[in-house]
Amino acid sequence: MDKIYDVIIVGSGPAGMTAALYGSRAGLSCALIESNAPGGKLIKTFEISNYPSVKESSGVELAMSMFDHSTSFGAEFVSGEVVDIIDGDVKKVTLDDGSIVSGLSVIIATGTKERLMNIPNEKELTGKGVSYCAVCDGAFFKDKVVTVIGGGNSALEESLYLAQFASQVNIVIRRDVFRAEPIIQDRIEKESKINVIKKHVPKAIVEKDGKVGAIVLENVDTKETMEIDTAAVFPYIGLDPITDFAKKLGVCNEQGYIVVNEHMETSVKGIYGVGDCRVTVLRQVITACSDGAIAAQRIFHQLKG
Ligand code: NDP
Repeated sequence: MDKIYDVIIVGSGPAGMTAALYGSRAGLSCALIESNAPGGKLIKTFEISNYPSVKESSGVELAMSMFDHSTSFGAEFVSGEVVDIIDGDVKKVTLDDGSIVSGLSVIIATGTKERLMNIPNEKELTGKGVSYCAVCDGAFFKDKVVTVIGGGNSALEESLYLAQFASQVNIVIRRDVFRAEPIIQDRIEKESKINVIKKHVPKAIVEKDGKVGAIVLENVDTKETMEIDTAAVFPYIGLDPITDFAKKLGVCNEQGYIVVNEHMETSVKGIYGVGDCRVTVLRQVITACSDGAIAAQRIFHQLKG
Protein backbone atom coordinates (compact mmCIF):
# COMPACT_ATOMS: atom_id res chain seq x y z
CA MET A 1 0.00 0.00 0.00
CA ASP A 2 1.20 3.52 -0.84
CA LYS A 3 2.47 5.72 1.95
CA ILE A 4 -0.11 7.70 3.88
CA TYR A 5 1.39 10.95 5.17
CA ASP A 6 0.16 12.61 8.35
CA VAL A 7 0.18 15.93 6.51
CA ILE A 8 0.22 16.87 2.85
CA ILE A 9 1.20 20.51 2.37
CA VAL A 10 0.27 22.02 -0.98
CA GLY A 11 2.56 24.93 -1.82
CA SER A 12 6.03 25.77 -0.52
CA GLY A 13 5.91 29.50 0.16
CA PRO A 14 6.61 30.76 3.69
CA ALA A 15 3.29 29.35 4.99
CA GLY A 16 3.83 25.87 3.53
CA MET A 17 7.49 25.74 4.52
CA THR A 18 6.71 26.71 8.12
CA ALA A 19 3.96 24.06 8.28
CA ALA A 20 6.51 21.50 7.07
CA LEU A 21 9.02 22.66 9.68
CA TYR A 22 6.58 22.56 12.60
CA GLY A 23 4.91 19.33 11.43
CA SER A 24 8.09 17.34 10.84
CA ARG A 25 9.79 18.67 13.96
CA ALA A 26 6.76 17.41 15.95
CA GLY A 27 7.27 13.95 14.43
CA LEU A 28 4.54 14.07 11.76
CA SER A 29 5.30 12.65 8.32
CA CYS A 30 4.97 15.55 5.87
CA ALA A 31 4.90 15.85 2.08
CA LEU A 32 5.58 19.36 0.80
CA ILE A 33 4.23 19.61 -2.76
CA GLU A 34 5.33 22.40 -5.12
CA SER A 35 5.05 22.95 -8.87
CA ASN A 36 7.82 25.57 -9.09
CA ALA A 37 10.97 26.29 -7.15
CA PRO A 38 10.38 26.47 -3.38
CA GLY A 39 9.86 29.92 -1.89
CA GLY A 40 6.58 31.12 -3.39
CA LYS A 41 6.38 34.90 -3.83
CA LEU A 42 9.65 35.29 -1.93
CA ILE A 43 11.68 34.21 -4.95
CA LYS A 44 10.09 37.00 -6.98
CA THR A 45 10.73 39.61 -4.30
CA PHE A 46 13.75 41.87 -4.52
CA GLU A 47 14.15 42.79 -0.89
CA ILE A 48 12.67 41.78 2.48
CA SER A 49 13.24 44.17 5.36
CA ASN A 50 10.27 43.53 7.66
CA TYR A 51 10.88 39.96 8.79
CA PRO A 52 12.07 40.16 12.40
CA SER A 53 15.79 39.46 12.91
CA VAL A 54 16.43 39.68 9.16
CA LYS A 55 17.18 43.39 8.70
CA GLU A 56 17.61 43.05 4.98
CA SER A 57 17.66 40.06 2.70
CA SER A 58 16.93 39.26 -0.91
CA GLY A 59 13.74 37.22 -1.31
CA VAL A 60 15.68 34.35 -2.88
CA GLU A 61 18.16 34.22 0.02
CA LEU A 62 15.41 34.09 2.64
CA ALA A 63 13.51 31.48 0.60
CA MET A 64 16.53 29.19 0.33
CA SER A 65 17.31 29.50 4.00
CA MET A 66 13.67 28.74 4.94
CA PHE A 67 13.54 25.79 2.57
CA ASP A 68 16.73 24.33 3.97
CA HIS A 69 15.36 24.66 7.51
CA SER A 70 11.87 23.38 6.64
CA THR A 71 13.16 20.10 5.20
CA SER A 72 15.81 19.49 7.87
CA PHE A 73 13.48 17.45 10.11
CA GLY A 74 12.40 14.98 7.45
CA ALA A 75 9.63 16.71 5.46
CA GLU A 76 9.73 15.30 1.92
CA PHE A 77 9.68 17.67 -1.06
CA VAL A 78 7.43 16.44 -3.88
CA SER A 79 7.55 18.18 -7.26
CA GLY A 80 4.21 18.51 -9.06
CA GLU A 81 1.12 20.65 -9.55
CA VAL A 82 -1.96 19.72 -7.54
CA VAL A 83 -5.06 19.47 -9.71
CA ASP A 84 -7.56 17.86 -7.32
CA ILE A 85 -8.17 16.96 -3.69
CA ILE A 86 -10.59 14.15 -2.84
CA ASP A 87 -11.88 14.23 0.71
CA GLY A 88 -12.22 11.13 2.91
CA ASP A 89 -10.68 9.66 6.06
CA VAL A 90 -7.61 9.34 3.87
CA LYS A 91 -7.38 12.34 1.57
CA LYS A 92 -6.18 11.89 -2.00
CA VAL A 93 -4.23 14.70 -3.64
CA THR A 94 -3.93 14.29 -7.42
CA LEU A 95 -0.94 15.78 -9.25
CA ASP A 96 -0.81 16.91 -12.89
CA ASP A 97 1.07 13.75 -13.92
CA GLY A 98 -1.84 11.64 -12.59
CA SER A 99 0.00 10.41 -9.49
CA ILE A 100 -1.78 10.50 -6.14
CA VAL A 101 -0.38 11.49 -2.76
CA SER A 102 -2.39 10.21 0.24
CA GLY A 103 -2.61 11.80 3.66
CA LEU A 104 -4.66 12.13 6.84
CA SER A 105 -4.74 15.92 6.51
CA VAL A 106 -4.08 18.55 3.86
CA ILE A 107 -2.81 22.09 4.34
CA ILE A 108 -3.49 24.34 1.35
CA ALA A 109 -0.75 26.98 1.12
CA THR A 110 -0.80 27.89 -2.55
CA GLY A 111 -0.70 31.68 -2.21
CA THR A 112 -1.75 34.04 -4.95
CA LYS A 113 -1.02 34.84 -8.58
CA GLU A 114 -0.69 38.20 -10.31
CA ARG A 115 -3.89 39.67 -11.74
CA LEU A 116 -3.91 40.32 -15.47
CA MET A 117 -4.77 43.73 -16.98
CA ASN A 118 -6.79 42.05 -19.77
CA ILE A 119 -5.89 44.65 -22.39
CA PRO A 120 -4.91 44.17 -26.05
CA ASN A 121 -1.43 42.67 -26.60
CA GLU A 122 -0.90 41.82 -22.91
CA LYS A 123 -0.93 38.05 -23.51
CA GLU A 124 0.76 38.23 -26.93
CA LEU A 125 3.70 40.26 -25.59
CA THR A 126 4.18 38.39 -22.32
CA GLY A 127 7.86 37.44 -22.33
CA LYS A 128 8.47 40.07 -25.02
CA GLY A 129 8.41 43.07 -22.72
CA VAL A 130 5.35 42.31 -20.58
CA SER A 131 6.55 40.75 -17.33
CA TYR A 132 4.99 39.98 -13.95
CA CYS A 133 8.38 39.58 -12.26
CA ALA A 134 10.71 42.56 -12.06
CA VAL A 135 13.31 40.54 -10.17
CA CYS A 136 13.41 37.93 -12.94
CA ASP A 137 13.39 40.26 -15.96
CA GLY A 138 14.43 43.75 -14.82
CA ALA A 139 18.07 43.40 -15.86
CA PHE A 140 17.01 42.92 -19.51
CA PHE A 141 15.95 46.57 -19.59
CA LYS A 142 19.23 48.26 -18.70
CA ASP A 143 19.16 51.94 -19.77
CA LYS A 144 15.63 51.60 -21.18
CA VAL A 145 12.33 53.20 -20.17
CA VAL A 146 10.02 50.77 -18.35
CA THR A 147 6.47 51.17 -17.05
CA VAL A 148 4.94 49.73 -13.88
CA ILE A 149 1.16 49.61 -13.47
CA GLY A 150 -0.31 49.88 -9.95
CA GLY A 151 0.33 51.76 -6.72
CA GLY A 152 0.41 49.02 -4.07
CA ASN A 153 3.42 47.70 -2.14
CA SER A 154 4.37 45.30 -4.94
CA ALA A 155 4.33 47.97 -7.66
CA LEU A 156 6.38 50.45 -5.66
CA GLU A 157 8.91 47.99 -4.29
CA GLU A 158 9.53 46.49 -7.71
CA SER A 159 9.80 50.00 -9.24
CA LEU A 160 12.65 50.73 -6.85
CA TYR A 161 14.32 47.54 -8.00
CA LEU A 162 13.84 48.42 -11.67
CA ALA A 163 15.31 51.91 -11.12
CA GLN A 164 18.70 50.23 -10.63
CA PHE A 165 18.74 49.21 -14.31
CA ALA A 166 16.31 51.35 -16.27
CA SER A 167 16.90 54.88 -17.50
CA GLN A 168 13.38 55.80 -16.35
CA VAL A 169 10.58 54.01 -14.50
CA ASN A 170 7.03 55.24 -15.11
CA ILE A 171 4.53 54.28 -12.43
CA VAL A 172 0.91 54.50 -13.63
CA ILE A 173 -1.78 54.75 -10.93
CA ARG A 174 -5.50 55.12 -11.42
CA ARG A 175 -6.11 57.43 -8.46
CA ASP A 176 -4.00 60.38 -7.32
CA VAL A 177 -2.74 58.52 -4.25
CA PHE A 178 -0.76 55.34 -3.73
CA ARG A 179 -2.06 52.33 -1.84
CA ALA A 180 1.43 51.33 -0.63
CA GLU A 181 2.80 51.91 2.87
CA PRO A 182 4.18 55.45 3.53
CA ILE A 183 7.73 54.17 4.10
CA ILE A 184 7.86 52.84 0.54
CA GLN A 185 6.23 56.00 -0.85
CA ASP A 186 9.01 58.05 0.77
CA ARG A 187 11.64 56.03 -1.04
CA ILE A 188 9.80 56.48 -4.35
CA GLU A 189 9.78 60.27 -3.90
CA LYS A 190 13.56 60.27 -3.44
CA GLU A 191 14.29 58.22 -6.57
CA SER A 192 14.99 60.62 -9.43
CA LYS A 193 14.50 58.01 -12.14
CA ILE A 194 10.87 57.45 -11.14
CA ASN A 195 8.09 59.34 -12.91
CA VAL A 196 4.56 58.95 -11.50
CA ILE A 197 1.60 59.23 -13.90
CA LYS A 198 -1.56 59.73 -11.85
CA LYS A 199 -5.22 59.17 -12.75
CA HIS A 200 -4.49 57.01 -15.78
CA VAL A 201 -5.28 53.38 -16.61
CA PRO A 202 -3.68 51.11 -19.22
CA LYS A 203 -5.79 50.56 -22.34
CA ALA A 204 -3.47 48.72 -24.76
CA ILE A 205 0.11 47.74 -25.32
CA VAL A 206 1.64 48.72 -28.62
CA GLU A 207 3.89 46.23 -30.38
CA LYS A 208 7.00 47.37 -32.24
CA ASP A 209 9.26 44.86 -34.00
CA GLY A 210 7.63 41.94 -32.17
CA LYS A 211 8.22 43.47 -28.71
CA VAL A 212 6.65 46.04 -26.42
CA GLY A 213 7.16 49.49 -27.95
CA ALA A 214 4.65 51.69 -26.15
CA ILE A 215 1.60 51.71 -23.89
CA VAL A 216 -1.69 53.53 -24.37
CA LEU A 217 -3.01 55.18 -21.21
CA GLU A 218 -6.43 56.71 -20.63
CA ASN A 219 -7.09 59.64 -18.32
CA VAL A 220 -9.80 58.44 -15.91
CA ASP A 221 -11.47 61.89 -15.77
CA THR A 222 -11.28 63.19 -19.32
CA LYS A 223 -11.07 59.79 -21.11
CA GLU A 224 -8.36 61.27 -23.30
CA THR A 225 -5.70 58.78 -24.34
CA MET A 226 -1.97 59.16 -24.74
CA GLU A 227 0.76 56.82 -25.94
CA ILE A 228 4.08 56.66 -24.14
CA ASP A 229 7.15 54.84 -25.40
CA THR A 230 8.30 52.02 -23.13
CA ALA A 231 10.40 48.90 -23.58
CA ALA A 232 8.59 46.96 -20.88
CA VAL A 233 5.36 46.83 -18.91
CA PHE A 234 5.27 45.36 -15.41
CA PRO A 235 1.66 45.00 -14.18
CA TYR A 236 1.32 44.89 -10.37
CA ILE A 237 -2.40 45.46 -9.99
CA GLY A 238 -3.18 42.98 -7.26
CA LEU A 239 -3.40 39.28 -6.69
CA ASP A 240 -5.90 36.42 -6.90
CA PRO A 241 -5.79 33.21 -4.83
CA ILE A 242 -4.60 29.97 -6.45
CA THR A 243 -7.41 27.74 -5.24
CA ASP A 244 -9.27 26.49 -8.34
CA PHE A 245 -8.40 22.88 -7.49
CA ALA A 246 -10.02 23.30 -4.04
CA LYS A 247 -13.28 25.00 -5.07
CA LYS A 248 -15.38 21.85 -5.22
CA LEU A 249 -14.56 21.15 -1.57
CA GLY A 250 -16.73 24.20 -0.78
CA VAL A 251 -14.06 25.88 1.35
CA CYS A 252 -13.61 29.11 -0.65
CA ASN A 253 -15.46 32.43 -0.59
CA GLU A 254 -16.71 34.23 -3.73
CA GLN A 255 -13.26 35.64 -4.50
CA GLY A 256 -11.69 32.20 -4.16
CA TYR A 257 -10.00 32.80 -0.80
CA ILE A 258 -10.16 29.89 1.68
CA VAL A 259 -12.31 30.49 4.76
CA VAL A 260 -10.78 29.17 8.00
CA ASN A 261 -11.19 29.44 11.77
CA GLU A 262 -8.50 30.48 14.24
CA HIS A 263 -6.87 27.03 13.96
CA MET A 264 -6.67 27.41 10.14
CA GLU A 265 -9.34 24.67 9.80
CA THR A 266 -11.79 24.86 6.91
CA SER A 267 -15.34 23.51 7.16
CA VAL A 268 -14.03 20.17 5.84
CA LYS A 269 -12.43 18.06 8.58
CA GLY A 270 -8.71 17.61 8.03
CA ILE A 271 -8.42 20.34 5.36
CA TYR A 272 -6.62 23.55 6.33
CA GLY A 273 -5.92 26.87 4.58
CA VAL A 274 -2.89 29.04 5.38
CA GLY A 275 -1.02 32.09 4.11
CA ASP A 276 -2.01 34.45 1.30
CA CYS A 277 -4.66 32.10 -0.18
CA ARG A 278 -6.89 32.35 2.91
CA VAL A 279 -9.22 35.13 4.03
CA THR A 280 -7.08 37.37 6.21
CA VAL A 281 -6.44 41.00 7.09
CA LEU A 282 -2.69 40.98 6.39
CA ARG A 283 -0.64 39.17 3.74
CA GLN A 284 3.00 39.22 4.80
CA VAL A 285 5.80 36.67 5.16
CA ILE A 286 5.45 36.79 8.94
CA THR A 287 1.68 36.18 8.94
CA ALA A 288 2.05 33.34 6.42
CA CYS A 289 4.66 31.68 8.66
CA SER A 290 2.39 32.10 11.66
CA ASP A 291 -0.51 30.43 9.83
CA GLY A 292 1.67 27.47 8.87
CA ALA A 293 2.79 26.97 12.47
CA ILE A 294 -0.79 27.13 13.81
CA ALA A 295 -2.10 24.58 11.28
CA ALA A 296 0.73 22.10 11.86
CA GLN A 297 0.35 22.36 15.61
CA ARG A 298 -3.41 21.78 15.35
CA ILE A 299 -2.86 18.69 13.22
CA PHE A 300 -0.32 17.37 15.70
CA HIS A 301 -2.89 17.66 18.51
CA GLN A 302 -5.66 16.13 16.35
CA LEU A 303 -3.55 13.13 15.26
CA LYS A 304 -1.33 12.48 18.26
CA GLY A 305 -3.48 13.87 21.07
P1 NDP B 1 -2.65 45.78 -3.94
O1 NDP B 1 -4.02 45.21 -4.06
O2 NDP B 1 -2.18 46.23 -2.60
O3 NDP B 1 -2.48 47.01 -4.94
C1 NDP B 1 -2.95 46.93 -6.25
C2 NDP B 1 -2.69 48.24 -6.96
O4 NDP B 1 -3.12 48.12 -8.33
C3 NDP B 1 -3.47 49.42 -6.38
O5 NDP B 1 -2.72 50.59 -6.51
C4 NDP B 1 -4.72 49.46 -7.26
O6 NDP B 1 -5.28 50.75 -7.37
C5 NDP B 1 -4.13 49.09 -8.60
N1 NDP B 1 -5.11 48.47 -9.52
C6 NDP B 1 -5.95 47.44 -9.26
N2 NDP B 1 -6.66 47.11 -10.36
C7 NDP B 1 -6.24 47.95 -11.34
C8 NDP B 1 -6.59 48.10 -12.69
N3 NDP B 1 -7.50 47.31 -13.28
N4 NDP B 1 -5.98 49.07 -13.41
C9 NDP B 1 -5.05 49.86 -12.84
N5 NDP B 1 -4.66 49.76 -11.56
C10 NDP B 1 -5.25 48.81 -10.81
O7 NDP B 1 -1.69 44.64 -4.56
P2 NDP B 1 -0.16 44.28 -4.26
O8 NDP B 1 0.17 43.19 -5.19
O9 NDP B 1 0.70 45.48 -4.25
O10 NDP B 1 -0.17 43.70 -2.78
C11 NDP B 1 -0.97 42.55 -2.45
C12 NDP B 1 -0.83 42.27 -0.96
O11 NDP B 1 0.52 41.89 -0.64
C13 NDP B 1 -1.14 43.51 -0.12
O12 NDP B 1 -1.80 43.08 1.03
C14 NDP B 1 0.23 44.06 0.19
O13 NDP B 1 0.26 44.84 1.36
C15 NDP B 1 1.06 42.78 0.31
N6 NDP B 1 2.47 43.06 0.02
C16 NDP B 1 3.26 43.46 1.05
C17 NDP B 1 4.58 43.76 0.83
C18 NDP B 1 5.39 44.27 1.98
O14 NDP B 1 4.86 44.52 3.04
N7 NDP B 1 6.68 44.44 1.86
C19 NDP B 1 5.20 43.64 -0.49
C20 NDP B 1 4.26 43.27 -1.53
C21 NDP B 1 2.95 42.99 -1.27
P3 NDP B 1 -6.19 51.36 -6.19
O15 NDP B 1 -5.26 51.67 -5.07
O16 NDP B 1 -6.77 52.56 -6.85
O17 NDP B 1 -7.20 50.32 -5.85
